[in-house]
Amino acid sequence: MSTVGLSPVLTEFWDHPQSWTMDTYLDHGGYEGLKKALTMDPAAIVQEVKDSGLRGRGGAGFPTGMKWGFLPPDDGGPRYLVVNADESEPGTCKDIPLMMATPQFLIEGVIITSFAIGCRHAFIYVRGEVVHVYRRLLKAVEEAYDRGFLGDNILGSGYSLDVTVHAGAGAYICGEETALLDSLEGRRGQPRLKPPFPAVAGLYARPTVVNNVESVASVPQIIARGASWFTSLGTEKSAGHGLFSLSGHVERPGQYEAPLGITLRELLDMAGGIRGGRQLKFWTPGGSSTPIFTADHLDTPLDYESVGAAGSMLGTRALQIFDDTTSVVRAVTRWTEFYAHESCGKCTPCREGTYWLKQVLRRIEAGQGTQGDIEKLLDLCDNILGRAFCALGDGATSCITSAIQYFRDEFEAGMHTPAWELFPPERSALF
Ligand code: NAD
Repeated sequence: MSTVGLSPVLTEFWDHPQSWTMDTYLDHGGYEGLKKALTMDPAAIVQEVKDSGLRGRGGAGFPTGMKWGFLPPDDGGPRYLVVNADESEPGTCKDIPLMMATPQFLIEGVIITSFAIGCRHAFIYVRGEVVHVYRRLLKAVEEAYDRGFLGDNILGSGYSLDVTVHAGAGAYICGEETALLDSLEGRRGQPRLKPPFPAVAGLYARPTVVNNVESVASVPQIIARGASWFTSLGTEKSAGHGLFSLSGHVERPGQYEAPLGITLRELLDMAGGIRGGRQLKFWTPGGSSTPIFTADHLDTPLDYESVGAAGSMLGTRALQIFDDTTSVVRAVTRWTEFYAHESCGKCTPCREGTYWLKQVLRRIEAGQGTQGDIEKLLDLCDNILGRAFCALGDGATSCITSAIQYFRDEFEAGMHTPAWELFPPERSALF
């Protein structure tokens, strides 16, 4: 187990003036993982990724190698890899810089993963708003074709692969893997009932692996350096390293690559601390869909098990930091407005529930809360959690129930005093 002293891997040459080009990538050892992978048996690659303990970096933390292993035996028909690059969770901002700075990490990972699972056509689904990322990926794919890493008979191995980069239309729900698949097939993006999981019936009802950008980008180095290198980082059950995105009231916001198991206190040391030397009030360990933490959790190791045991989820490692000038009611109201806006409307608990959560929170924020509103919020959350069609509904409740748990007095103050009087805008960067 190691939680300090990681040499950057994914971010090693982000500061290079031409970090995104194929030449820079090759100068830094790029495509060595692919060359090795092409000499291996595909099943051995799957085993290596299983042995590495890599867990899905999109938020759920599902073991990546196990997911690949769920594909049914090859029946001669197509099977697909779909990279989920629809990063949209509030506070989550790691895949987009990764694709901008070093897109070849992802492309190499796509080729190795596709080879391992027997895929001949892979897709990268990028959220629609980030046109600059879409263009960068198109260029990166073109460069990979030009150098013989994509297309027919890759590096003379006899293996062929095509990659299509697809831009969505800007809907948070399309980050949900089955909504993404519907969108990719040309339909309105709404979640499908699971099971069947995409591994069995995914894109065009064929076996499909859907993996997050960072998960796939982690594969080349796992193959090049071996599973034991990866397991030497992080903790026993949360192996490896990852990108931690610090945003909000912190001196130097940005991406911090570190082994899983690092603490917020250690990350804040690297990031210059809370802005202006102020006090930490609350934070999200994994984006706004995860229950918030407070200053009491500064030393909680940021691995799946420890964060779970402390009552939250590691999620996307999107650490949104809020200092003592922030109204928790206002922050939670903003997040809830987001979920209500992005609810796809397919299921009643999420569609109606997020609307009513927003209504109640807005009046508490305005100091016009009524007796019983806190219980109403908790009751609404109880009727959404575990009853919605996909994770969006569950995620919408996390910030509310946890904020009431830690800061109930602020919600009670919303029965008579507006949040903007308790936390005047001129003192808070949030408003
Ligand atoms: P999930 O736990 O239902 O599934 C995780 C993955 O494992 C999926 O790919 C699923 O197909 C696969 N899987 C699970 N059980 C399986 C089985 N029995 N057989 C085959 N495959 C199986 O989680 P989810 O709904 O995919 O994702 C929820 C997470 O997404 C949240 O925890 C949140 O952190 C994250 N999230 C991320 C963003 C973002 O922008 N990156 C946005 C919103 C939410």
